[in-house]
Amino acid sequence: MPHITAEIISIGDEMITGARLDTNTQWLSQRLGELGVDVQFHTTVADTLSHNTDVFRIAARRADLVIATGGLGPTRDDLTREAIAESLGRPLQLHEPSLKFIESMFQRRGREMPERNQSQAMFPIGAAPIHNPQGTAPGIDVRAPREDGTQSRIFALPGVPAEMKTMFDETVAPAVLGSNGQRRHIAHHVMKFFGVGESDMEQRLGDMIARDRQPRVGITVSAATISLRIVATGETMEACESAIATTRDEILRKAGEFYFGDGETFEQHHAVVQHLNKVGQRLLLVELGRAAPLGDWF
Ligand code: ATP
Ligand code: MG
Repeated sequence: MPHITAEIISIGDEMITGARLDTNTQWLSQRLGELGVDVQFHTTVADTLSHNTDVFRIAARRADLVIATGGLGPTRDDLTREAIAESLGRPLQLHEPSLKFIESMFQRRGREMPERNQSQAMFPIGAAPIHNPQGTAPGIDVRAPREDGTQSRIFALPGVPAEMKTMFDETVAPAVLGSNGQRRHIAHHVMKFFGVGESDMEQRLGDMIARDRQPRVGITVSAATISLRIVATGETMEACESAIATTRDEILRKAGEFYFGDGETFEQHHAVVQHLNKVGQRLLLVELGRAAPLGDWF
């Protein structure tokens, strides 16, 4: 795969003032890393048009891939559309199908579309909208020509983390892979482990966690639980799934005694419940104190 560099831009006063932590950039960096993209810059910028325009201009110059989040809403401080248009030196243009889609989103909620939401159907000339199945704001996919004849590809996504994540997985990730030839499909699988330290785990996995391995295996630790994230790219979904299955078996051979389940949201208490159900046993829980986390879990 060719070397692709990326810059991630986070837009909003709330990140600049510290009122909100920029979790979008962290998430995007991890996902892009899994795709083999070399993220080189994180930029955070307030809701100021001229600064946003500068940020897009600089990013397109120095990164092959620019991913921005925030500022796509219908209010006056949402300036991402204008900023991208200005950085490209192109006007905004109404995209009728997007307008229809936004109107239909409001209709489904039994509401009239406020006039100002029309701005969300405005795109810089040459841009394609990115479908947003959860919210009103479509994203923006546009190429910025560079002086040396190459292009930088800009993706602008909404700030709302859930919408941003869905749109990245459904549209941006396949596009990034697609620009690399055959490997258009991507599949993820998470395995959970307990009772082993991170460095011990790394040692057992050896070169399975090398950055250039296919499928990639990423390791994260949280609350004494180790998550291994397997990411496969391939020509078909079946190829991805089968590569994941092979890697999963290999991991189980190396660290199977610490494995307790699969899936991002699968926790130790789920494993306990699963086991008790299987063997037909019950659990009696005596918990003292007000927070009662165990009671909540079980
Ligand atoms: P909307 O259509 O909802 O207005 P938007 O693209 O304009 O979307 P913002 O208004 O900038 O997005 O942000 C929407 C929500 O997402 C806010 O609650 C904001 O705090 C949150 N958010 C924005 N950027 C980030 C980020 N980088 N990390 C985490 N949360 C963010
Ligand atoms: Mg904002």
